[in-house]
Amino acid sequence: MKIAIIGGGPSGIIAAIEIKKRNPYFEVIIFEQKDSLGKKIKASGNGRCNIGNLNHNFSVYKNEKIVENILHDYDQEEYLKSLGILTKTLYDDYLYPVSESANNVLLILMNKLEELGVQIKLNAKLIDYDTKNDTVNLFFSDGAIVVDRVIFATGGKSSPNLGSDGTLFPIFEKHGYKIEHLNPGLTPIRVKENVKTLFGQRLKALVSLEENEQIIHQEVGEVLFKKDGLSGIVIMNISSQIINKGCKNPRINIFLLNNEGSILSFDEFKIVAQDNKNPLLTFVSESISNYVHELANIDKNKLLEE
Ligand SMILES: Cc1cc2nc3c(=O)[nH]c(=O)nc-3n(C[C@H](O)[C@H](O)[C@H](O)COP(=O)(O)OP(=O)(O)OC[C@H]3O[C@@H](n4cnc5c(N)ncnc54)[C@H](O)[C@@H]3O)c2cc1C
Repeated sequence: MKIAIIGGGPSGIIAAIEIKKRNPYFEVIIFEQKDSLGKKIKASGNGRCNIGNLNHNFSVYKNEKIVENILHDYDQEEYLKSLGILTKTLYDDYLYPVSESANNVLLILMNKLEELGVQIKLNAKLIDYDTKNDTVNLFFSDGAIVVDRVIFATGGKSSPNLGSDGTLFPIFEKHGYKIEHLNPGLTPIRVKENVKTLFGQRLKALVSLEENEQIIHQEVGEVLFKKDGLSGIVIMNISSQIINKGCKNPRINIFLLNNEGSILSFDEFKIVAQDNKNPLLTFVSESISNYVHELANIDKNKLLEE
């Protein structure tokens, strides 16, 4: 049996591994249009790879029941361990590789593919296919091959530079598949404010999403400042909420946390301020402190004056 997997992202790689583990004599080939596998794995979690979530919830999937049937016995940590990826938990329930390196995760998966004898064809862009009898003809930009079965693992449309460019969606439609309306989700967010001076800063905070002065979502996490906006898992989750809840005028609030992880109250802040000329420096970096002073148009030395 000759099986082609189109797309060498995490889905294609894991599909190849699982088929080969169960059927060592099958010929399994991954066809990847880019010059290397797993470009998005390398970019994941800001290079640290947030590889799982212990608190994941089936209701976030469109076909909740189907996903639950498949995944209810799946133990993320055990499965990853079986691949040689040991994990640890950060921020309560986010799973990361012990190495905190997305690159290492990819290297471990590539070693597994090699160990199992999965073939890899790079720079192989599928442009169309058709089925004949019990076989599939695959057409690439530079040739064609015939296989017995094919798995499409070509991702979404979110990162053309990393490979998921959505170019196969019209081809799937041509072959009779219905493509659900595609919405952006889990993306960084551009903000109106000029946050250039905060570029590269990180801040653990409670972040809330407000629409028409109502808080509609909030969670604690690390905010990462970009040149033109915000990123980090918490912000990506908020980006999906903005789309799913159809927000027209979303506003994002970032609340500082105290030692116990609760929102820092003004009274707590005042206590710190008794011994500290610039109490913000107790909680945030100098750039963030300067930014807050500038935004609020207040003198650093008069922060607490009513
Ligand atoms: C910046 C960033 C950070 C992220 N961080 C995390 C994180 O920390 N944790 C997490 O769980 N998720 C994270 N994600 C999301 C995660 O990367 C995706 O959910 C995941 O990569 C999807 O896997 P996939 O295999 O389905 O698709 P993809 O990873 O998109 O892989 C699809 C592959 O198919 C190839 N392909 C497409 N069309 C063709 C074609 N016609 N012919 C041949 N090959 C083709 C593409 O080149 C690509 O390699 C992040 C995404 C981004 C962009």
